[in-house]
Order: sequence, then structure tokens, then C-alpha cells
Amino acid sequence: MKFQDKKVLIRVDFNVPLDKDFQVTDDTRIRGAIPSIKQLIERGSAVIIMSHLGRPMKKLKEDGTIDKERFTLRHIVHRLSKLVGQPILFAEDTVGEDAQRKVADLQPGQILLLENTRFEPGEKKGDKELAQKMANLADIYVNDAFGTAHRAHASTAIIASFFDKKHKTFGLLMEKEIANANKLLNNPERPVTAIVGGAKVSDKMLLLDKLIDLADNIIIGGGMAYTFFLANGGKVGNSLVEQDRLQLAKELQEKAHQKGTNIYLPKDSIVADDFNANAHTLVVNSDEIEDGWMGLDIGPEAATAFAEVIKKSKTVLWNGPMGVFEMAPFAGGTHAVAKAVAAATQNGAFTLIGGGDSVAAINQLGLADKVSYVSTGGGAMLKFLEGAKLPGIEAIEA
Ligand code: AMP
Repeated sequence: MKFQDKKVLIRVDFNVPLDKDFQVTDDTRIRGAIPSIKQLIERGSAVIIMSHLGRPMKKLKEDGTIDKERFTLRHIVHRLSKLVGQPILFAEDTVGEDAQRKVADLQPGQILLLENTRFEPGEKKGDKELAQKMANLADIYVNDAFGTAHRAHASTAIIASFFDKKHKTFGLLMEKEIANANKLLNNPERPVTAIVGGAKVSDKMLLLDKLIDLADNIIIGGGMAYTFFLANGGKVGNSLVEQDRLQLAKELQEKAHQKGTNIYLPKDSIVADDFNANAHTLVVNSDEIEDGWMGLDIGPEAATAFAEVIKKSKTVLWNGPMGVFEMAPFAGGTHAVAKAVAAATQNGAFTLIGGGDSVAAINQLGLADKVSYVSTGGGAMLKFLEGAKLPGIEAIEA
């Protein structure tokens, strides 16, 4: 593809957290897109960047209008400029007069950031007219927004239909995400261990089903473990359970048994008498939790057992915390797993942190560079691993 002197529109995921003064508090996603942006500049393109930020349509002002002050992408211009090492021009709209004028004036080597795509009512609806207006801004479309690849929005998927195969491509981040996910899915080195945690079984049902076919070992922790214990006839007190998923928990275990996939549940738990960092705590067997107590983390025996399995693995996927790691007394299990994943990596395993809260945990411990790959896309990575076709990826390949 020829990039020299071309206007290139790159969709990135700059949906970063901001504090009350609109300062960027975590720039991981911005940094993720920098290699692609720099590469386009080096290749002599005029670079137009577009992204969404937050949910402006869900959080309208009292008078029913968009809160532009809160959701403008102008908030990130300064940080972006520092990270790319050159000034960033900014358009006050996404496809309106200002964007069109500034795009027309844009020279090779310059970077223009468009206003939040979600200020456009057609964005989330995947509106064709809006997508065409976006497409009209550029000669080439690059999709580097893995975090939104599971959405068929105007800027992430529909727009790609206005470019032929010679004028659309993946960005470097997107390529890396896909390559790493595929490394796990296609002929992974064995044993393969998947660690699945987080609040609910219902969110990870399809993932677990897929993993039973793929993995040798599945470690289950976090709130979802108690639905399994209850399904198996245990006592879980006031722990988080999904009564309507008891049958599913049984079926998943039955399928694992038939396929010869080991399922590891946490033998013991740290239980608390309140959902609170200052609550009283005890260590008990996970299937013998008294009423009035709830399991908020895996116990020390479980942490040791899980770490053993992880360290012996050659491929590891981790998605979801082992407990309520946001509160220090219940973060130990998640931290133990994070350290075991880092140790496995050191032993030569390929380790993939599959997005969301496990990424926060690995960052909390400063271990992000001690694992093979940390995904930037929570929901998108989950869907990809489940085997779903992601609209953002399909649209580029079409
Ligand atoms: P998810 O988004 O499904 O990965 O879930 C992450 C959330 O699950 C985190 O906010 C954790 O605090 C929460 N979580 C993990 N373990 C438990 C537990 N035992 N009880 C209640 N919530 C939990």
C-alpha cells in the first residue's frame, strides 16, 4: 500500500479514563496506538485520527444536549502530542465543516485529531451516511482500535465498506492483538492453562465452553466459583451466586470431564462478614461457608495450588481477578496468580492477559512487562477468544 502523500484516516481507541479536571489518568490506550501513528508519519502520510471517548449520548446534560466540555477529545491533545513528539491539530467536529476544512489543509507529516465520534448520533447505529462522510475525508482507512472491534459502529466497521482492499488495513496494535490471540487459539504449546475469574459465570459462559475444548487446565476463581460450589452441593453462605446458572455450572463440569480437561476450583476462601475492606475475615473451605459470610478471595491453599499448575504450563490465558482485588484484604489471591503468571513467562511460557480487570491487577503489581502480552481490549478480546467474528476485523478483511 502506498502511504506517501496520502491522507490516512486511522481509527484508534483513545477511550481513556480522565480525572475531575479532565486529566488523563491512564494513557495505556494512547501509547498503544503511537507506533501506528508514527509509522504513518514516517511513510509520508497526512494523518487524521478518530476515536470515541466515554458515553456522551448516555450522559446528556440536563437540557438534553451533549456535554461537549466533558467528553471532548481535546482533553487528550496535550498527552498525545507529548507521546508522538509533535504538535496535534484538532477539529471541533468529526465530519463537519471544521473537520473538512482542516483535512483539506492537512499536509504530509501533520496530524489532525477529529472530535469524539460519539457526538454523532449515527456512530453507534452504524449509520451508512455518516460512515461515508468519514470515508470521504481520506484516501486510506486504518483500523487500530482493537478495543472496539466487536462493535459494528460507523467508524469501526461500516466505514471500511467505502474502501477497497488496497485502501484499508489493520494498524500495528490491531495486528499484534490478533496475532497474540491466534497464538493461543491455534496449536498452542501444551499444557495450556486458562485462569478465569471475575464476578459472574454468565459473562464468561461462552469463553468457558470454548476453553474446555482448548485448554488442559481451567482454573476458576473470583465470585463465579461459588456458583460451581453451590451446584456441586456445597454451602456458600452469602457469597455471590447466580441461581439461574447452577445447571450450566454442572454441564460445564460434565463436558470438561468428558473431554479430559481439568477444572480447578479454589479449595479454600477468604470469607468476610460484610462487603467491606474493614470486615472481619476468616479462611474456610470454599464449600463450607456459613450464612452471614461471603467468599471474597481465594484462600492461601488455593493460591498455592493454582500457582503450581500455572508455573508448569507452557501457555497461559488469564481473564478476570480471583477476588475483590480492589480492596487490599481480598487482593492476595489475584496477586499470587499474577506472580505465578510472571514466573511461568520466565520459564518460557507464552502468557496472555486477556483484558479488563486482570490487566489492572497486573499493572498494579508492575508486572506488565513480565508477561508475554497484555491485551488492550477487554470485551473485544473475550469475544475473539470465544470464536466470534468481530465486525471491525471482518470489515477490513472483506
Ligand atoms: P469481571 O468484570 O467479570 O472480570 O469481574 C471483575 C469484578 O469481579 C471485580 O470488580 C471484582 O471485585 C469482582 N469479584 C471478584 N471476585 C469476587 C467475589 N468473590 N465476590 C464478589 N465480587 C467479586
